[in-house]
Amino acid sequence: MYNGVMKKIKIPVEVSARHCHLSKNDLEKLFGIGYELKKMKQLTQPCDFACQETVDIQFGSKKIERVRVVGPVRENTQVEISITDAVGSGIMPPLKLSGDLKGASQVIIIGPKGLIELKEGLIVAQRHLHCATDEANKFGLKSGDKLSVKIEGDRQIIFGNVIVRVKDDYKLCVHLDTDEGNAAGINKVTEGYIII
Ligand SMILES: [Zn+2]
Repeated sequence: MYNGVMKKIKIPVEVSARHCHLSKNDLEKLFGIGYELKKMKQLTQPCDFACQETVDIQFGSKKIERVRVVGPVRENTQVEISITDAVGSGIMPPLKLSGDLKGASQVIIIGPKGLIELKEGLIVAQRHLHCATDEANKFGLKSGDKLSVKIEGDRQIIFGNVIVRVKDDYKLCVHLDTDEGNAAGINKVTEGYIII
């Protein structure tokens, strides 16, 4: 990955608020048989959209209402929260890449038509870089690589251990959670530099 030349590449950075992905089966348990998610807003990654639907979640001694559902439906249901969300609940979910639910924490998800209880469904998302295959080749990156992202400004900060995720149709973008965004003093979207 490191070719001896330090590169500083400008890159969009986005902050992801807490959210929930649902499997088709769990969507129907929460919202009713045959229910389809309603798109509210397209997200940067071409396949992802914020839905009109929200759910309530419960874990440990804490309940959080109106957690946004992100579509489309996925193979596995998962909830992504920040460490601040977890404080006071008695539970600290593991830091995981989205989709990796082994060892994830227990969570109850409540919808208008029912609830589900997941033994392994709650994580804190590991910060990551989405990168299209051709760009990854250009930068000499592959899935699973780790790099650093610098964000400038009054709260200038360098985030290490940003995991590279490569897919043909990904749009180049770093995803942080709200704790990381707050630490860097950014609201929703900013620019940073990947340091390879
Ligand atoms: Zn992401």
